[in-house]
Amino acid sequence: MNIILFGPPGAGKGTQAKVLTETRGLPQLSTGDMLKAAIAAGTELGKKVDAILAKGDLVSDDIVIGIIAERYDQPDCAKGAVFDGFPRTIPQAEALDALLAKRGRKIDVVIELKVDNAVMIERVAQRVKETIAAGGKPRSDDNPETLKKRLEVYGQNTAPLLDYYGKQGKVKTIDGMAPIADVTRAIAAALDKHR
Ligand code: AMP
Repeated sequence: MNIILFGPPGAGKGTQAKVLTETRGLPQLSTGDMLKAAIAAGTELGKKVDAILAKGDLVSDDIVIGIIAERYDQPDCAKGAVFDGFPRTIPQAEALDALLAKRGRKIDVVIELKVDNAVMIERVAQRVKETIAAGGKPRSDDNPETLKKRLEVYGQNTAPLLDYYGKQGKVKTIDGMAPIADVTRAIAAALDKHR
């Protein structure tokens, strides 16, 4: 099964993707995590995208499509995957459809985690506090300025994908503001109904 977790920054996509990995054995394919790993490792790719992530802009479609194409051919994706933070633009969605079609696969469900912007900003502020309290370093893109930009980018480039997948009848909308366990249950119910 191939699932897209869809929603603005802070909606809880990463948290729920990890649950799906545990419960359904589907790997989490997070382009954000992969890009951040490349930055941390100081690779050529990392150097290329570092400033873009720090600003909250999108890296080019070619880069993320390339990363996903390579990652999806790993053996752990044999049963499908949970896409987290990808696709984020219409060309990315079209490329993903083509990539899956070539392998005789398709996107089965798009889970939209719906959240209120104000709540989302509060959540991200909380995430920063918790990370600092635990002795960690907050994500460099979790500052108010970058967050504002990431939200703008989401509204302009990513939100239109709901229409793209809506026309295919694939979108299941879930209240992302509910407690984590409730969101997990709602996603499980939506996926089980889909089977
Ligand atoms: P995330 O952790 O998903 O919020 O991603 C962090 C950052 O990585 C984003 O703000 C973008 O700069 C970049 N990024 C992640 N996924 C994509 C994507 N699919 N397309 C373009 N840029 C991306």
